[in-house]
Amino acid sequence: MSCIFCEIVARRAPASFVHEDELVVAFMTLQPTAPGECLVIPRAHVDHFTDLPDTTALHIMGVAQRIGRRVREVFRPERVGFLVHGYGVAHAHLIIVPQQGPHHLTSDRFARIVGDRVVFDLSRTPIADRSVLDAHARLLAGSAEPPPRDGGP
Ligand SMILES: [Zn+2]
Repeated sequence: MSCIFCEIVARRAPASFVHEDELVVAFMTLQPTAPGECLVIPRAHVDHFTDLPDTTALHIMGVAQRIGRRVREVFRPERVGFLVHGYGVAHAHLIIVPQQGPHHLTSDRFARIVGDRVVFDLSRTPIADRSVLDAHARLLAGSAEPPPRDGGP
């Protein structure tokens, strides 16, 4: 079985990392629909997001929150969307989407309607240069650490 996300977690495939800890990693998407788009995934290979332990799912959301705030600061999208559609790579992932308008997620850069179906298809979205992804990852890196506690447990 070969899973590109497991290869990235094991550092056998290239990625522009934003964050990593014992449970999850975050890295830039290869075909971003907007600058700053990135993913948070569990280190463990789990296909369905709903099969993740609650603690892992909550941790993914916490990391996404902190990266999402930084995405807003750096890239100034109208809104930051969190998307778990479950398709594409069969390894649970949450996509942080800097949205440039209310139809960003349903635009033909991300998904489109073919016949009567919504199809997630990035074939119309170019693959970004690694140097650009690395630069964006550096801008977002460090943001996923928990904020320092201001006293008290
Ligand atoms: Zn995997």
